[in-house]
Amino acid sequence: MTHAPPQVTILGVRIDDVSMDETVARIRRMLADGRPHHIVTVNPEFVMTAQRNALFRTTLRRADLAVPDGVGLKLAARWTGQRLANRVPGVELCERLAQLSAETGARIFLLGAAPGVAEAAAAALRRRYPGVVIAGCYAGSPHPRDEADVRQRIMAARTEILLVAYGSPAQDLWIARNQPRLAIPVAIGVGGSFDYLSGAVPRAPRLMRQLGLEWLYRLVRQPWRWRRIWTAVVRFPVAVLLHRQRRTTSNE
Ligand code: UDP
Repeated sequence: MTHAPPQVTILGVRIDDVSMDETVARIRRMLADGRPHHIVTVNPEFVMTAQRNALFRTTLRRADLAVPDGVGLKLAARWTGQRLANRVPGVELCERLAQLSAETGARIFLLGAAPGVAEAAAAALRRRYPGVVIAGCYAGSPHPRDEADVRQRIMAARTEILLVAYGSPAQDLWIARNQPRLAIPVAIGVGGSFDYLSGAVPRAPRLMRQLGLEWLYRLVRQPWRWRRIWTAVVRFPVAVLLHRQRRTTSNE
């Protein structure tokens, strides 16, 4: 039997406090069990989107595993008297799954990102994890009219682990809509991971990541994303603090 991991709740969104090793161990069990599962990699932007998008809120609540991605969540947990010990960045999870695939033969399908990027990410994974089984790569589109074609490709490839890079919230809404018919053991929304794996977008230097300054690196490299960075770095902490303030006031 699998025990439920410790959880924290931030602005109504549940996050499972699992380490990278625990996440991979759980994914191994999902593969062995064979039933369909959905894993979400929650970051502050997810939490903010969930405040105004009820369908996304439900999707996150129903996920089989909600791993913590983003240092902002750790701070938010601390400010609200909770403890979140772990971080599971999507791109590192993809690499661990490539390693798992090389060991076990689990078949990975890379769906999404700009044309050619999934293929380049797969080539990088093959170089780093010889023996990884890439079941298929396809950019496709998150549009509902393309779903039947995309599902057909994923099923024809006998996919066991599906990585979906359509950005948030589209990728997890796509999984929620399609997983009942796909019924593959593991489906994960992985955001910009293929861009990083392929080298199309560089990751922040390790020190910046350790200091929680990945957002600053992104702001300099991709200034057009300022609005999203603003949401994660300013709107999210403000919303968490206001929520805490309201709860304290109402308890007095
Ligand atoms: N993407 C896509 N189709 C879309 C929108 C986004 O394939 O209609 C891809 C985009 O190319 C990128 C990935 O989704 O590789 C993640 O996008 P973004 O960096 O905006 O998402 P985040 O990781 O920040 O949620």
